[in-house]
Amino acid sequence: MPVKSIMSSTAPLLTSRHVAVIGAGATGLVAARELRREGHRVVVFERGDEVGGTWVYTPEVESDPIGLNPKRSIVHSSLYDSLRTNLPRESMGFRDYPFKKREEKGRDSRRFPGHREVLMYLQDFAARFEIYELVRFGTEVVFAGLDKGGKWRVTSASRNTDPVDEIYDAVIVCNGHYVKPRLPHIPGINVWPGKQLHSHNYRRPEPYQDKVVVLIGNSSSAVDISRDIATVAKEVHIAAWSLEEDKLGKMHGHENMWLHSMVDSVHEDGTVVFKDGNAVAADFIIHCTGYSYEFPFLETNGEVTVDDNRVGPLYKHVFPPALAPWLSFVGLPWKIVPFPQFELQSKWIAAVLSNRIALPSKEEMLEDVEAFYSSLEASGTPKRYTHNMALLQWEYNDWIADQCAFPYIEEWRKQMYLATGKNRALRPDSYRDEWEDDDLVQQAEQDFANYLI
Ligand code: FAD
Repeated sequence: MPVKSIMSSTAPLLTSRHVAVIGAGATGLVAARELRREGHRVVVFERGDEVGGTWVYTPEVESDPIGLNPKRSIVHSSLYDSLRTNLPRESMGFRDYPFKKREEKGRDSRRFPGHREVLMYLQDFAARFEIYELVRFGTEVVFAGLDKGGKWRVTSASRNTDPVDEIYDAVIVCNGHYVKPRLPHIPGINVWPGKQLHSHNYRRPEPYQDKVVVLIGNSSSAVDISRDIATVAKEVHIAAWSLEEDKLGKMHGHENMWLHSMVDSVHEDGTVVFKDGNAVAADFIIHCTGYSYEFPFLETNGEVTVDDNRVGPLYKHVFPPALAPWLSFVGLPWKIVPFPQFELQSKWIAAVLSNRIALPSKEEMLEDVEAFYSSLEASGTPKRYTHNMALLQWEYNDWIADQCAFPYIEEWRKQMYLATGKNRALRPDSYRDEWEDDDLVQQAEQDFANYLI
């Protein structure tokens, strides 16, 4: 059904599509908003009862604490009770709906707020842009695959009802990727007598009272969880992949925390041996070792695979060339400022679906993907880091902004990301409460004054 663009009277006629969005976390919400702005008809499937995805905290944990058993009960959220954001709120928010400080009762006005404040922000976003009416809660997509004539069949199941089959023009995958634990192989783990869990199933420190705990990994979850546990544990040992020798040993400013090289092996008598030869007798191992991408509902006849955590082939991390633009993914990259990038990807998808923006040919997209993979290989980047963007995020975001004729991400936001990274490295214990980039906060607040929310 052609609809006239609401953007300008000279805009071309846009095509309205019937689009299924899978997931109502931050990606699904902003995808739904952008799709509707572009004139598409949208249904958002959400297996949970609320919007917000990973920001919906629950004290519940999975039946298998390391997440190996495929039949385990799945808990979506990976949040721990004490979690505060690791990015300042000014940098986190969507572009035209800033994550401003709110002073009302019940709100957390800190610059790095607790997780509940992020959930409330996403709920506010969903209410402000009338997304709730598009969401089917308690409805899980159990199958999404190609049907006749290039359409997509989506099968969804709600509690106490039979599965329902529907046909859509396009499917956008927004299912989140912090759910399926990734575990390293540790020699001896099968006979090690202690308890193990993945950070996905860590909630509170009490079970570790007076215990000796080894955490594997030194990314943001390990940094936070180790400090949370150290408030009650006897000893906390962090096994890190890459650290300069002079950082190893007792941690400055902490009575009961040590940094080690990676775990080498574990043993029947309970000892954990590190690669530098040190050993401790531990009660718990907590794997802070990241997550695997997983799309159990998606059937693409092999056109999209997950290989060593590379989801591919995908043109610019979004469109599989063979199925574009009818299948797309929002939110796969990591080590980024997430929400503004989700917004850009969603704008791009919405405009490609309406024919306002054209994609290159399938062959050209595949060539681009191959060139990208070759560049990763040439730089020695492992496959599992395909979607790890870090400093490359800005160029990527600007490229998508160019496609959409949308303004680039603000300079202050980039500078704030860099300043926060430096501050976190300098003050891992206090970066959320002590900083030196107030000038950037001021610039952000000036910008926010342009938006009425
Ligand atoms: P999710 O939030 O995971 O949402 C996916 C949704 O899809 C869920 O609601 C789920 O129920 C639904 N779903 C899944 N499968 C199906 C299905 N088959 N059918 C129907 N529904 C389905 N980002 C920041 O910006 N700042 C931070 O400080 C920050 N801290 C983080 C800390 C932790 C511990 C973690 C895990 C992540 C953090 N992030 C942070 C990143 C965060 O994941 C993103 O900000 C963002 O919330 C991801 O949104 P999403 O929509 O991709 O996924």
